[in-house]
Amino acid sequence: MNLNIVNTFISELPADSDLENSRRQVTEAVFSYVNPKKTKDPKVIHVSQEMASELNISEEETNLDFFKSIFTGNKIYPKTKPFSMCYGGHQFGNWAGQLGDGRAINLFEVEHQNKNWKVQLKGAGETPFSRTADGLAVLRSSVREYLCSEAMFHLGVPTTRALSLSLSGDAVLRDVLYDGNQAFEKGAIVSRISPSFLRFGNYEIFTAREDVENLKKLVDYTIKHHFSHLGEPSKENYINFFKEVSASTLDMIIHWQRVGFVHGVMNTDNMSILGLTIDFGPYGWLEGFDFGWTPNTTDRQHKRYRYGNQPNMGLWNLYQLANALYPIIEEVEPLEAILNQYKVDFEQQSFTMMKSKLGLFTSDENDAVLIQHLEDTLQLTETDMTIFFRNLSSFSNEKSGFYLVEKAFYELEDFSDAIKMKWINWFEKYSERLQKETTSSKERKEKMDAVNPKYVLRNYMSQLAIDAADKGDYTLIDELFQLLKRPYAEQPENEKWFAKRPEWARNKVGCSMLSCSS
Ligand code: AMP
Ligand code: MG
Repeated sequence: MNLNIVNTFISELPADSDLENSRRQVTEAVFSYVNPKKTKDPKVIHVSQEMASELNISEEETNLDFFKSIFTGNKIYPKTKPFSMCYGGHQFGNWAGQLGDGRAINLFEVEHQNKNWKVQLKGAGETPFSRTADGLAVLRSSVREYLCSEAMFHLGVPTTRALSLSLSGDAVLRDVLYDGNQAFEKGAIVSRISPSFLRFGNYEIFTAREDVENLKKLVDYTIKHHFSHLGEPSKENYINFFKEVSASTLDMIIHWQRVGFVHGVMNTDNMSILGLTIDFGPYGWLEGFDFGWTPNTTDRQHKRYRYGNQPNMGLWNLYQLANALYPIIEEVEPLEAILNQYKVDFEQQSFTMMKSKLGLFTSDENDAVLIQHLEDTLQLTETDMTIFFRNLSSFSNEKSGFYLVEKAFYELEDFSDAIKMKWINWFEKYSERLQKETTSSKERKEKMDAVNPKYVLRNYMSQLAIDAADKGDYTLIDELFQLLKRPYAEQPENEKWFAKRPEWARNKVGCSMLSCSS
C-alpha cells in the first residue's frame, strides 16, 4: 500500500501545542494531535473497493493485515500524524460551546488522480474532545453509517464516503434508550473519507472565542483548498464563499427531500462546509410520506429536525454560519441578501424537484396546486413514499393510478371513500396535466426512474443487517451494499427489497426509534 500522503491541513493550520490526550478546552488551534487507541482483536468486515481504488489501494491490499492495522487505528501509516479537530456547535437551537471530534481521529490526507481525500476513523478512542464519553462506536451505528454513506453517494446525494467497516474486538457499554438499561455491545470502527470534514462549528468556535485571527486562517485555508476558483481571500470572497456554502447546503437538502432522507441531528456541528451529508447518526428514511416525521427519539418532543423542517433548519444553520463569518466580513447586508436568496431558491428548487418526481418538465400555472394536493393527499393515509413515486412512472390512466397508490398503503382499512375520492380527483388532474407534456411516456418513465429511487436503505433493512452481523454473519451487509450501488435500476432478483416496511419493524428500536447513543 503506497499512499500519496500530503499534509495541507496539519501543515497550514494552527495545531494545539498540548500533546497530552486529556479532555480539555483547546484554544487557538484547529486541531490536536492524538493517536487512535489500540484494539483487542480487530477484524475488517467490509470494504468499499470503489473507495479503496479512489485512494489507490488495490483489492489485494485491502485483504492484508497492514490494511486492517491502519484502518482500525492499530498502526500509524509512516510519516503521518493523526489528529482530531476542534469545533463547537449549536445543538437543538442552543450554543453548546466546544464539541469537537470526540470519537473521530483523522489519519491522513491522500492525493490521487487529482483528488484530495481526508481519511478519518470514527470510534477509534478518546480525544481531547471526548468530554464525558468514551470515544468509541458500536457495531449498530457503524453499520448504519457505512451502508448509508455509500448508498447516498450512489443515489447522487452529496455525502462523505466510507472505506471500511471493522470490529474493534472490544466491548462498549451503551444505554440505547437512555432509560438506565446499559448493556455491552460490540465495538466497531468506520473509516470515513471526504475532501473535508470541516463543519460550520469549526468556524463558529473561533468567533465564539473572539479569535478572529484563527477564524481568518481557517477561512483562508478553506477558500484556498476548496473554493480556489474564488481567487485570493478578500472580504468580497468571504461573501462569495458564504454564498457557495449556502447554495451547496440547499442543494444537499433538496436531494434529501427528493429521496426521503431525514438526517435527524442537523446541529451546526453536523453541517459540512462543503454541503456534504455528514455524521450518520439517528437518521432515517421516510416510509410513510409525512412532513412531521423524525427518526430521532431525542427530538421526539419538538421534532425540530422532522422531514418537512429540514430546509428551514438548513437556513437556521446558515444564519449561525453567517454570524460566525461576520467578524471577517463586517457587513450585514450581503449576508442577509444571501440568506434571503436561500428562501427564494428553496421554493424554486423544491418545486422543480417535485415536478421532476412527477415527470413534469414543462410549465403549467396549476403545477404548484397539483403538487400541494398530492402532498396533502399522501399524508391522509400512511403511504410509502419510495413505492408511490417509483410506481408513478408506470401511470397510464386514472385506473392504473388507483392501483399503484393502493400498493403503497400500509393500512387498507384507512382507505375511506372520502380519501378514495381525493385520490381519484388527483389522478384525474394528473392525467390531464400529463397530456400537456411533450415527452413520450417512455421517455418520461426513464426520467422519473432516474430521480425516484427503487431501493433505499429502509430502517428495518439496516436493522436486519445489524442483527445478523451481531451474530457474526456479514452476508446481508454485503447484499445491501451491492443492492444500493444501483438504487435506480430494476433489479428483479432484489424485488423483495422493493417492499413496504414489515409490521414487526413499525415500533422497533433501531427501525423507527433511534437515539444519539451510538
Ligand atoms: P453527534 O450528535 O453524534 O454529532 O455528536 C455530538 C458530539 O458528541 C460530537 O462532538 C461528537 O464527537 C461527540 N460524541 C458523540 N459520541 C461520542 C462518544 N462515544 N465519545 C466521545 N464523543 C462522542
Ligand atoms: Mg457529529
